[in-house]
Amino acid sequence: MNEYDSDRIYDIAKNINYKKTNNLSEADCYVLNTCHIREKATEKVYHDIGRVKKEFRNKKKPIIVVTGCVAQAEGDILLKKEKYIDAVIGPQSYHLFNSTLLKLEKESNKINFTEFDVIEKFDNLNRFKNSSSSVSSYLTIQEGCDKFCKFCVVPYTRGAEFSRSVKELFKECKELVENGTSEITLLGQNVNAYNYEGKRLSDLIFEISKIENLKRIRYTTSHPIDFSKDLIDIHRTSKKLMPLIHLPVQSGSDNILRNMNRKHDIHYYLDLISELKKSNPLIEFSSDFIIGYPGETDKDFDASYELLKKVGYINTYSFIFSPRLGTPAAEMKKIDNKIAKKRLEIFQREAERIKMKYRKKLFNKKSTILFENRSSRKKDEFFGRDEYLNSVIVKSNENLKGKIKDVTITNGNQNTLFGEIISNSEKKDFAA
Ligand code: SF4
Repeated sequence: MNEYDSDRIYDIAKNINYKKTNNLSEADCYVLNTCHIREKATEKVYHDIGRVKKEFRNKKKPIIVVTGCVAQAEGDILLKKEKYIDAVIGPQSYHLFNSTLLKLEKESNKINFTEFDVIEKFDNLNRFKNSSSSVSSYLTIQEGCDKFCKFCVVPYTRGAEFSRSVKELFKECKELVENGTSEITLLGQNVNAYNYEGKRLSDLIFEISKIENLKRIRYTTSHPIDFSKDLIDIHRTSKKLMPLIHLPVQSGSDNILRNMNRKHDIHYYLDLISELKKSNPLIEFSSDFIIGYPGETDKDFDASYELLKKVGYINTYSFIFSPRLGTPAAEMKKIDNKIAKKRLEIFQREAERIKMKYRKKLFNKKSTILFENRSSRKKDEFFGRDEYLNSVIVKSNENLKGKIKDVTITNGNQNTLFGEIISNSEKKDFAA
């Protein structure tokens, strides 16, 4: 979501004549768009500002703006602690970006915009064309969260659940496709909680599928309790919706899920997986796990390990629990770090084994790849992704960017698959 936000901030700033530069020492303004989900996010802000300070030691300082969830969660502290920062702007106040810059060009007052005015934000952002021209683009359709998992800062930094209108999203999708986008990932902290005047995520997917040159649709991140029947069904009927679902579970233990306030148990979660598989047997799953959550026993950890094996996720993101300021879990007693580390090691080893076993099954088989870029390493290599987001590299003298081709996977490792194009395999548009 931060990538999408950064692009939109740039779309706004262009209107007052700011342009992107790769040359840091030339910048008149330096924007640090932060993510509070990452560990040590605040330290990273101070560290990055240290770099800028060094660069501008003997020069007029640039305007420094910190945006994103760290700005929202710790804005006052940042302004007090680091005098070099001129403004903090929370994720729901990006529409105030240009007025902030124009003000700071004239005077050097400190500015803190961290209100939750999400309606005004999107009303204002809609005035600016989305200029992203990537083959694969993000589109925020929903923000915020009402779930309050005990470990998570999102409800405090992004506010309550809010959905954008189908009409404005359709327009933005069209703009992206006209710019050259073939694949759109619909984003939301709780993307499947999307609800605009009764229109749900499945309705939105159905609508945007009508855009002729839009070839692939994805969505992330979904919450298990928001999987309505219509969303399960559209995985059977839509040819453009990709068959990979990121379905965070966080733990395989009902005790821990209760302590996390996740609002579902494992029985429910596994039933949902089987419903989705019934709807479309080609669906695969990825997930997030927190290892070593406060109170996690050996038995709880074993339950996570068993779930990993049972579902056979093709990708997992697992981290040791780390407390976030202001969340209930930050007040809980942490488990021994050595034990948590050991468990993570065991978990990740198994996750990697499962992933590699799955990837080996792809060797010598046909995959359909949407090519995104020429490889930065070699001119005759192109990078793309299959329907399950696996990265694939092929050699080609033809410019493949934006094309969909059938490829035979010949080889691969944990991160990348390699393949050969099956000749004359360019795909025509899918039916909606
Ligand atoms: S549902 Fe997701 S975004 Fe909401 S509180 Fe839980 S982890 Fe955070």
